[in-house]
Amino acid sequence: MSTNKFDVIVVGGGPAGSAAARTLSTAGIKVCLLDKENFPREKLCGGLLTMRSKKIYDQVFQTSWDPVIEKVSRGVSFFSKDSMLRSLRDYKDLFSIQRRNFDHFLLRLAADAGTELRLGLAVKNVDCSSNILQLSDGTELSAKHIIGADGVNSRVARSLYGQPFNNKWIGFGLEMEVPLKDGFENIPDPEIYFGVVKYGYGWVFPKKDTMTAGIGGLLSKNPDMRQEFETFLKARFGRVPNAGIKGCFIPTGDYRMPPGRKNILLCGDAANLAEPITGEGISFAMQSGHYAALSVIESNRTGKSVMELYLKRYREITNAFDYSRKLRYLVFPGPCERALTRSLSKTESLAKKHMDLMAGDLEYPEYFRHIIWRTCKKILKKIIGEQ
Ligand SMILES: Cc1cc2nc3c(=O)[nH]c(=O)nc-3n(C[C@H](O)[C@H](O)[C@H](O)COP(=O)(O)OP(=O)(O)OC[C@H]3O[C@@H](n4cnc5c(N)ncnc54)[C@H](O)[C@@H]3O)c2cc1C
Repeated sequence: MSTNKFDVIVVGGGPAGSAAARTLSTAGIKVCLLDKENFPREKLCGGLLTMRSKKIYDQVFQTSWDPVIEKVSRGVSFFSKDSMLRSLRDYKDLFSIQRRNFDHFLLRLAADAGTELRLGLAVKNVDCSSNILQLSDGTELSAKHIIGADGVNSRVARSLYGQPFNNKWIGFGLEMEVPLKDGFENIPDPEIYFGVVKYGYGWVFPKKDTMTAGIGGLLSKNPDMRQEFETFLKARFGRVPNAGIKGCFIPTGDYRMPPGRKNILLCGDAANLAEPITGEGISFAMQSGHYAALSVIESNRTGKSVMELYLKRYREITNAFDYSRKLRYLVFPGPCERALTRSLSKTESLAKKHMDLMAGDLEYPEYFRHIIWRTCKKILKKIIGEQ
């Protein structure tokens, strides 16, 4: 059987794969992008984009994303179960998208730059010693470099490690698109709910014709997440809206190190790169896809190991994750979460810091220091007060 050869094969046409393919094609490299789905395709997601996403999007795609932005919000409201803690208005931009349209848009931008698309074809197996991919139609493709951007259930990661993620740390999310026409009123800004799920949170994000309601948290801590979601929906909407509930894994923070092997690089959810506390993944998917592509380009030019080049860039993302992995033990255990929600209702500065973090204007190490500082101050006050 003849094997088609490419400089690079990108597996997966989500934000990570399209960012990688667009960067490579712009540099004149022969790229083939494979996806098991035909586009436009659905992807379960809250569809909330931060300024962090905008910055990396602008850098990689260099054209306006306005055609696929459904709504721009300038604030956020925080709740504990069903009581409002604090609302910030006119503070920072957050962007709402539908993944079906957003991902299709990015894929078209990769194709416009010269990427060859092969859609509706699943990768069945990757021979990691020869860099040959077997596809669902029986054909084989090979490439000097493979970029695995095939999401949380990554087939490329499975071929390398036997499993795509660690069950102990995997997150899970449940969502519903609540149609506005069913008598539900749209909200001006995103809503975040603490205390509705363990080691996670709930959300309602406004879109054009729907609101996306969801909960997400560590799967190991929430054995009956569907029940938790129905309780959340009833509390928020007065009843369970008449729309389907869907679920998907979220790879919250147990990132791959190293992210792949030799000339096979993993990025986005395939490298388990969702943020450990917020579950934000789109910005890190685009960033890691872009970094994988830059590393291939540099390796072709210098002859240096592509994995070493990628690791250097990848650490920029994971260094921040190391802080938030620790921070989640200060944020999510019951008493800590209750203290955090009390603080959110009392002080606007903490709510603003949280929003700065979501908007990408504050990085996790700084937020981490702020929380530690606040905790120490509280403990000191308590000790002094008790004397
Ligand atoms: C419920 C939920 C809510 C979320 N909300 C947000 C949010 O509001 N904001 C945010 O930033 N992030 C959010 N995330 C995280 C975000 O969705 C992911 O981090 C992001 O989609 C990762 O992008 P990716 O390109 O790595 O993978 P994906 O977007 O999953 O793309 C992977 C692609 O690979 C293809 N593929 C898979 N297997 C194969 C195969 N064998 N062969 C060929 N192709 C294959 C798939 O069809 C898919 O197109 C949420 C996640 C969940 C589950």
